[in-house]
Amino acid sequence: MKIDKLHINKNQFSDLINLRNNVFYPLKNFVSKKEFTQIIDNKRYKNQFFPLPITFGITKENYLKFKNKKSFNLYYENKYLINICNVKFYDLDKEEVCKKIYGVNYLKHPYYKKFINENFKFMYFDFQKQNKINLRHKYFLSPSLFKKKLKIKKISTLSSFHTRNVPHKAHQWIHNFLFKKFGALLIQPLIGQYKKGEYSDALILKTNKLAAKFFNSNKVFSIPFFSYPRYAGYREAALHAIVRKNYGCTHFWVGRDHAGFKDFYNYKQSQNFCYKNQKKLNIKIIAGAEPYYCSNCKNMKNTKCLNKNCSQKNIKKISGSLIRNLLKQNKLIPEYLMNSKISKLLSKKSLIN
Ligand SMILES: [Zn+2]
Repeated sequence: MKIDKLHINKNQFSDLINLRNNVFYPLKNFVSKKEFTQIIDNKRYKNQFFPLPITFGITKENYLKFKNKKSFNLYYENKYLINICNVKFYDLDKEEVCKKIYGVNYLKHPYYKKFINENFKFMYFDFQKQNKINLRHKYFLSPSLFKKKLKIKKISTLSSFHTRNVPHKAHQWIHNFLFKKFGALLIQPLIGQYKKGEYSDALILKTNKLAAKFFNSNKVFSIPFFSYPRYAGYREAALHAIVRKNYGCTHFWVGRDHAGFKDFYNYKQSQNFCYKNQKKLNIKIIAGAEPYYCSNCKNMKNTKCLNKNCSQKNIKKISGSLIRNLLKQNKLIPEYLMNSKISKLLSKKSLIN
């Protein structure tokens, strides 16, 4: 009997590879309807803390084609990945779900439309006959391989930093802070965003690797987190903490608006949520204040300047969008914003158009 092919997109591919390699552990498969509800309403998965469901959606077109089938072969870029069997379809109240994830303004959230369009129905299933060679990606490193490395180097305390950006001086301040405090650091950029006006995956990886290299230490690493941004705020921040725990990290820095989008979430909601749940997350949360540059002290800090001669005027915020705007205008990026060894790798062409 010929088994139908279902071609999956890049986001689904990354979710699949992450689930199959325990990146989202305890979650090891796309959720059923019951699991979805448990996670959304109670933040529980099989009696463990879990903040954000990983779903497998199907478009209307594919649903009509496949709705009476129980088994398909999943393909990505025309390569066979895995067979899925015991396939079951389900519906969700998508409006209600979006409201619960993105908040009261969910209709304006950039992922609302995407969520509605890409998920005509949801599916859950069992896996079999995985092709190990095809279920790989050049930007994916499994937690088990990375943890082997940590074991060889006898690293038992490892702090971690999440980013979606080319590192600027505020990021580097955090890198230094974490390394000094914990003696080992994983800089793990999330890639797979491919959005207009942002950097390519290759550039994000290259520049973060360089930032790790600045330490000249075999206890500082930079490996990718092969996934995609979900702009799901505090829930996604907690998922990012779980990912780092699964990569062997003991401490995780959560930013003020970690995984946020515009003003969809409350001030410090990601930090507060993760900090409050750090025992359940099984990783220590570092909810630090954002570093800034004081133009009077000519230094970065993340606490109030105690120098009497410094004022509010001296506070220079450092942001990725500020830097991208300079790039767009072909302007030089000043050293106080970004290390010149990094900025020299950037140009207007670095931004996807
Ligand atoms: Zn100052």
